[in-house]
Amino acid sequence: MKNYYQPEIETMPLEDLQKLQSERLVEQVKYVYDNVKVYHDMMDEKGVKPEDIKGIEDLHKLPFINKDDLRDQYPYGFLGTPLSECVRIQSTSGTTGRRVVAFYTQADLDIWEECCARAVVAAGGTKEDVCHVCYGYGLFTGGPGLNGGSHKVGCLTLPMSAGNTERQLQFMTDLGSTILCCTPSYAANLGEAIKERGIKSQIKLKAGIFGAEPWTEEMRRNIEESLGIKAYDIYGLTEISGPGVSFECEAQAGMHIQEDHFIPEIINPETGEVLPEGEVGELVFTCITKKAFPLLRYRTRDLCRLTREKCACGRTHVRMMKPKGRSDDMMVVKGVNVWPSQIEAVLLKQGFQANYQIIVDRVNNNDTIEVRVEKTPEMVYETQISDETREKRIVEGLKSMLGIKVNVKVIEPKAITRSEGKAVRVIDKRNLYQ
Ligand SMILES: [Zn+2]
Repeated sequence: MKNYYQPEIETMPLEDLQKLQSERLVEQVKYVYDNVKVYHDMMDEKGVKPEDIKGIEDLHKLPFINKDDLRDQYPYGFLGTPLSECVRIQSTSGTTGRRVVAFYTQADLDIWEECCARAVVAAGGTKEDVCHVCYGYGLFTGGPGLNGGSHKVGCLTLPMSAGNTERQLQFMTDLGSTILCCTPSYAANLGEAIKERGIKSQIKLKAGIFGAEPWTEEMRRNIEESLGIKAYDIYGLTEISGPGVSFECEAQAGMHIQEDHFIPEIINPETGEVLPEGEVGELVFTCITKKAFPLLRYRTRDLCRLTREKCACGRTHVRMMKPKGRSDDMMVVKGVNVWPSQIEAVLLKQGFQANYQIIVDRVNNNDTIEVRVEKTPEMVYETQISDETREKRIVEGLKSMLGIKVNVKVIEPKAITRSEGKAVRVIDKRNLYQ
């Protein structure tokens, strides 16, 4: 069975697709050069003019944008249109200094929702379906993106948002939800809750679209079994638009990147050199249709590989394999982007030294994060402050910095084994990137 939302685009012969990309790229580079001063300056600094870009073969001449550039230009630096043309913002998780605010014109929103609609149809969605969206709504792109995609397909859309499992299950059974959209860990939680209550026979789900955090094939099998569905992966990032930058088809063999809107490249994260197809490196995206937040050559820090091998579904757009890790030290914990440096900043501010370890695990499909930090020798003598008080202060500091609950243990000086090379700060027991 072939499920396409826009068959003429999704199955476009590669030659035509690349011609379309080239035309759009040339136009977009000129647009960005004329409208985004900071990128204009970056191009001037690199000695590249819009007329040097004649097609996708010239893409490598353009400068990269990385997350620090976005941070430096917060909030309006990369805006490509007058603010009066924008109708929406979305934002990444993370705290001041790490947060990215993305802007959308109405046309940008239409593109994003169209991308999500392709994903919903690829998962078997039609106007007969009941699409149950329990990604978070609000600044996070998950809820609004899949909501919009589901509308475009004509599904009856349930904007459930995250949490409140009882209510999720009640709507799911009362309204006969057939497609579930959420994080894979929440899908696994729902699967367990259904099992505990013995209500599997009342569940009509047939498919799920799961993203916003890394997950393994083993987790996919568990979810498919517990919910009685086919589970599809979806990928995206707020900087580029949100979920739906790429999505899985029924072949479940990598995610098709929507190449009529986003040009992917794989680069060597150390040198920036573009790598040949099939090699693992850092994924970079160039937006060729967006106007309000039109990023060119944005470095995602996700490590993966691309393949143009023929896909059984008939789509011609390139597939990206599940990311194999990150080229920076960011972790996704409970759906939130966490950098060890943020945790370190909280510890140092409270008088600790950088002798700490971060232990991340996944217990019953829920992420846990624990920070163990050594007291300084001085703290050992400050007996008026108990370890419990110190722990409580750190928990509060981290909650305010990251927005999630972190378990904290204050331990004795020198309790953490010193390594001879680079300190091992993070122990991630989840093995997400097998
Ligand atoms: Zn396919």
